[in-house]
Amino acid sequence: MKLSEDTPLHHQARLRAALEQSGHRLTEQRAAVYRFLVSTDTHPTAEDVHQGVRRSLPAISLATVYKSLETFVGSGLALKLNYSDGSSRYDGRTDPHHHARCAVCGEVRDVPGSLPLQNVPGLHLAGDFQVTGYRLELTGVCGACA
Ligand code: ZN
Ligand code: MN
Repeated sequence: MKLSEDTPLHHQARLRAALEQSGHRLTEQRAAVYRFLVSTDTHPTAEDVHQGVRRSLPAISLATVYKSLETFVGSGLALKLNYSDGSSRYDGRTDPHHHARCAVCGEVRDVPGSLPLQNVPGLHLAGDFQVTGYRLELTGVCGACA
């Protein structure tokens, strides 16, 4: 499923600028990994990304895919979602948004909308901790697993 109507050229310019700002070069492999990541809203694992990118770059290794994804996370181009079972998923969407995760199959989907910080109950009770944001994950069962 397409995430946005952005052109590939737009993605490539954003990718190059962000990589160079953090001291990395834009390589064909990094471009292919990024292209795949922003083309999906399924929050793929590194293995999922590897499977997808191999269709256009058959020789790319899982290690290269993994390192590219970590570079994107460090450069602010992607988010990494870590779970208590040790699994991780990647998200090419970096604007503030929330997720719902199926407790059975692990599917992660975006949740539309958010609450303004001042409307989240109890956050003002955080003592001397200055709250600047929040992350919310809804848990439940997806339609296929119900
Ligand atoms: Zn499910
Ligand atoms: Mn997301």
